[in-house]
Amino acid sequence: KQVQRAYNFNAGPSALPLPVLQKAQEELVDFRGSGMSVMELSHRSALYEEVHNEAIRLLKELYKIPEGYHVLFLQGGASLQFSMVPMNFLQAGKSAGYVMTGAWSEKAFAEAKLIGEVFEAASTKQENYKRIPQFDELNYDKDISYLHITSNNTIFGTQWSQFPDTGDVPLIADMSSDILCKPVDVEKFALIYAGAQKNLGPSGVTVVILRPDMLERAAKNLPTMLRYDIHVKNNSLYNTPPTFGIYMLGEVLKWVKDQGGVEGIEQRNREKAALIYDAIDASNDFYRGHAEKDSRSLMNITFTLQSDELEKKFLSEAKKAGFVGLNGHRSVGGCRASTYNAVPVEACQALRDFMIQFQKENS
Ligand code: PLP
Repeated sequence: KQVQRAYNFNAGPSALPLPVLQKAQEELVDFRGSGMSVMELSHRSALYEEVHNEAIRLLKELYKIPEGYHVLFLQGGASLQFSMVPMNFLQAGKSAGYVMTGAWSEKAFAEAKLIGEVFEAASTKQENYKRIPQFDELNYDKDISYLHITSNNTIFGTQWSQFPDTGDVPLIADMSSDILCKPVDVEKFALIYAGAQKNLGPSGVTVVILRPDMLERAAKNLPTMLRYDIHVKNNSLYNTPPTFGIYMLGEVLKWVKDQGGVEGIEQRNREKAALIYDAIDASNDFYRGHAEKDSRSLMNITFTLQSDELEKKFLSEAKKAGFVGLNGHRSVGGCRASTYNAVPVEACQALRDFMIQFQKENS
C-alpha cells in the first residue's frame, strides 16, 4: 500500500530507506520463522549471530575494508569514541593532534584533553569553519600518538574530499555523518568511527573500523567496556549488543548493495547534492552557501538567506510544504538540508523546486 513519507532532511537521526523499514515491519514479530522478533532472540543464538556476522561481512565488502581490519559494533555513540580513542591510544609522554573543522572536532578535542596532551594540528575556526584546511596547513610531528580528523562537519556543511597520507602517524577519523556516502581508501586510516544514525541505521550502534596493529599499542589498564581489544576478542559480543540496531544496520547495507554499492550511492549522492547546490549558485545571492565550494559537503548543505526575517519565512513555508529538518543547527542558525544516503532523489528535486519557487515569490 502507498505510504505517505515526509521529505526528511533531518541531520540525525535521519531518513532510513523505505524498503528497509518495510522489511523490518514484515519481520518484526516473526523473524525467519523463529516465532520471535530479532529483539527477542538471545544474542548467543545461532540465528542472531548470523545477523551480526552478516552485517560485519557486508560492511567489509561494501566499504572495501582491507584484510585484517576489525569491524566493531559498540554503544555510547560517536561521543564515547571521543573518549575511548585517547584512552586507548594517547600514549604517556606523547601528544595527539586534532584538526579543528567544526563543533564536533571541538568536542572530540575537549574530551581528549581530559585524558592527556593534545594540540590543534590546524583550525579553520577563524573563518567560521567554512572550509577544510589544505594538507600543507596540517602541522604535527612524526612522533605523535595519532592525528584526528572529522571527515564531514555536520553542522557547518564541509567535508574532506581527499585524505592526507600521514605515514607512520595513525590517522583517526570521525566519519559519523559521511560514512559510506562515497568510496574511501580505508587503508589510510588506523581507526574510523561513526554513530550509525545518519547513513547506517538507527541510533544506538556505533561502528568502529580498526587496523589490527593498533591493538598492540592500545592501553590495557582501562575499564573493560572501554577496551577495543576486549571488543575485538569477543566479536562485539562481550556484553549484550544493540541487536535490533545491528539487524537494521545489516538491512541498510543490503539496500546499499542493491543501489550499486557505495559507488552507486556516491553517484546518487552527487546528483542529489548538485540539485540543491545548483539552486543556491543560480540564485544570485538570494541563497548563500556557507561552505567554500571545494569544501562543500555531499551530506549537509548549509545556507542562509538575506535576512533573518526571510529565513524564518522560508523555514516556515518549507515546513508547511512538508519538508522536515531544514533548520540549521541551533549553534549556527541558517538552513541546512541533510541529504544522507537514504534521502531519495525526489526529495531533493522537490526541495530544489521549492527553493526556486520561494525565490520567485520573494524577490
Ligand atoms: N560526530 C559527528 C560528526 C556528528 O555529526 C555527531 C552527531 O551529530 C556526533 C559526532 C555525535 O554522535 P553521537 O550522537 O552518536 O554521540
